Amino acid sequence: MTLAPHKKAKALKPSSRRPAKELCSECGLCDTYYIHYVKSACAFLNQQIADLEATIHGRSRDLDNQDEWYFGVSQDMMAARKKEPIPGAQWTGIVSTIAIEMLTRGMVEGVVCVQNTEDDRFQPKPVIARTPEEILAARVNKPTLSPNLSVLEQIEQSGMKRLLVIGVGCQIQALRAVEQELGLEKLYVLGTPCVDNVTRAGLQKFLDTTSRSPSTVVYYEFMQDFRVHFKHEDGSTETVPFFGLNTKELKDVFAPSCMSCFDYVNSLADLVVGYMGAPFGWQWIVVRNDRGQEMLDLVQDQIDTQPVDSKGDRRNAVQQSIPAYDKGVTLPMWAAKLMGVVIERVGPKGLEYARFSIDSHFTRNYLYVKRHHPEILDDHVPEYAKRIVGQYKLPD
Ligand code: FAD
Ligand code: SF4
Repeated sequence: MTLAPHKKAKALKPSSRRPAKELCSECGLCDTYYIHYVKSACAFLNQQIADLEATIHGRSRDLDNQDEWYFGVSQDMMAARKKEPIPGAQWTGIVSTIAIEMLTRGMVEGVVCVQNTEDDRFQPKPVIARTPEEILAARVNKPTLSPNLSVLEQIEQSGMKRLLVIGVGCQIQALRAVEQELGLEKLYVLGTPCVDNVTRAGLQKFLDTTSRSPSTVVYYEFMQDFRVHFKHEDGSTETVPFFGLNTKELKDVFAPSCMSCFDYVNSLADLVVGYMGAPFGWQWIVVRNDRGQEMLDLVQDQIDTQPVDSKGDRRNAVQQSIPAYDKGVTLPMWAAKLMGVVIERVGPKGLEYARFSIDSHFTRNYLYVKRHHPEILDDHVPEYAKRIVGQYKLPD
């Protein structure tokens, strides 16, 4: 029997080898013998979204269609929420519900998801869940870089043939690049959008700088009403306007990988579940291919849906915020609150809010890569992102 090439590569555990160096997002691939493929698989060493889109969805995104610059290949899009939300889920628990349905109906034998460690609710612990309880234990975001792919070796060893992987863009890019080596008959990928992730230490700095009670935060989200919502252990909610964030302090908190990422909307997942293109309180669903539709069909009777909508014009707000972001300007809290209220009333909504968020992050990230890694700028930034950034006037 010939040994697959990656099995000859000895994984170092925990891996000290991170070929992407400071741009590494700790996706977990390098903790396994699949490190053998890192040069071609790593999202930060080999940007290959268009090629992988063509392999997975049957075509890459249509660059003549502006919506595809933003949201990628899709065959359906909607707002949805669970009729009976799962308590303690990030939003209404559509992700956990789909995973549980796939497992209990026998479509998959295991689900790659991320629980937290016993002593720290925000410290990620990737697992292959084999029971609904194990999936539920992974609900809610661990808003930190998470080595989800570190469990890949266990898949091959377990002999599993049908698998669901839940993950964010950089994890899914590396997964798609090694998909053929995993020995699976069927792989389903349920993605979430992701932006501005942090290391565990960075998360602490963010909580300490932004929340009135960092140690009791159980959940937070940057919401469509232009505020960060923190939920505390006692059930209370604290909101802080985006424009009041201490940008100077927080400038270096986000991981360099996330400052260099142009896959906010998880282009290579079969189905994406986020919130940013949906009205406040609803989740945003993007069906990228037939496999994604198959997954969504499992929960149709458990969700309410409505069409996506788009209101307002983001462009001025994005252009004006570029220098503020760049220089790390922080508004006094009264001005931030006022600006938040005004923007919430007249600002972009629905898909236009999603475009606002994508434009703001892509322009910031483009400047970051240009200044810190000019040698990779041209290859690393996908064509759709160059077109998005090209709509704005950027400082040098
Ligand atoms: P739940 O049922 O609560 O399940 C959450 C799932 O997320 C779990 O299965 C768990 O395995 C997985 N997960 C948790 N933490 C991580 C992690 N660090 N890496 C990979 N997987 C993880 N949506 C947007 O529209 N805009 C955003 O800017 C945005 N940023 C995000 C940033 C991060 C780090 C994450 C993890 C998600 C982000 N999302 C974003 C998605 C959104 O916050 C919700 O996760 C999504 O809508 C699903 O909600 P739910 O209630 O259905 O999930
Ligand atoms: Fe390895 Fe993943 Fe880091 Fe790239 S991002 S160097 S594949 S662990």
